[in-house]
Amino acid sequence: MKYDSEKIIQLRSKKNKLNPYIPYHFLHEAEPGLSDNIETINTIFLTSRECAFKCLMCDLWKNTLDEPAPLGAIIKQIDYALERLPQGDVIKLYNNGNFFDAKAISPKEYPEITSRLSNYKRVVVENHPKLCNKYCIEFSDMLDGKLEVAMGLETIHPGVLPKLNKQLTPEDFSNAATFLNNSNIDVRAFILLNPPYLTDAKESIEWTLKSIQFAFECGVKRCSVIPVRPGNGVMDILQKENFYTPPSLDMLEEVFEKALALKQGQIFVDTWDIGFLSNCTFCFEARKERLEKMNLTQKIFPETECSCKNNYVAAI
Ligand code: SF4
Ligand SMILES: [Zn+2]
Repeated sequence: MKYDSEKIIQLRSKKNKLNPYIPYHFLHEAEPGLSDNIETINTIFLTSRECAFKCLMCDLWKNTLDEPAPLGAIIKQIDYALERLPQGDVIKLYNNGNFFDAKAISPKEYPEITSRLSNYKRVVVENHPKLCNKYCIEFSDMLDGKLEVAMGLETIHPGVLPKLNKQLTPEDFSNAATFLNNSNIDVRAFILLNPPYLTDAKESIEWTLKSIQFAFECGVKRCSVIPVRPGNGVMDILQKENFYTPPSLDMLEEVFEKALALKQGQIFVDTWDIGFLSNCTFCFEARKERLEKMNLTQKIFPETECSCKNNYVAAI
């Protein structure tokens, strides 16, 4: 069965109720900079209008609004978070969609938004490759620091990417990366581990690595690997139909080690809420900590030994 936007929306549960004047989350963390230094990062998860795309594996819509936030609300959200966060080197403004979708965040707000960001040497936002347009340059020109745009490449698997309803080809991604790099804007890519329709573990790892390599060839400086989770409605159906298998912690570790060994750019793995990758209470915390250390140092640490390892079966 083909799942189009209409069907994907039908299968959803209810969204979380959000206040458009308060970001739905914010946090302070650390990440390696591009010259081997450690940078402190303030990430603000803005409460914003739902993304216009309806990707099969996406669950970000759960924390979005049906309508654009009222004019001025995004500034209030940024102020709210900054009053509560320590100073940082880098700020990420993630809006669960596309920062340069004028229907989500009005370009009229750029001057006030950028006025709040003058202390940051880098500003990271998320955006769909097809929405990399003149607004990126307008916003970048208003910043004191450097702009970095994080885009979902997801996978370059020719049989899988078209089925994700992302309305994207690898060429679109490559064109957007070239446009951004030519405009002195850095690029980060999101790459999936175990997208739907890739259920063989070895094949899935292989395509994640191929996709990472492609992203670096496009001029991307950092790749974040996202283990695909169930729970958005359509993914749960796909799992029942055997078109989706949750990845395992073994797989995430293998991808991370192999991607770091490429030495083509920085690699991160998403460790947020990865409890669904393992049900081993003996080793999970130690293995998660190892991944976090590898994120921060970009070095491979010795494996955590446990009898549960290397079975390639997601444990949920
Ligand atoms: S483009 Fe990004 S935010 Fe929008 S539906 Fe796809 S994955 Fe979700
Ligand atoms: Zn274990």
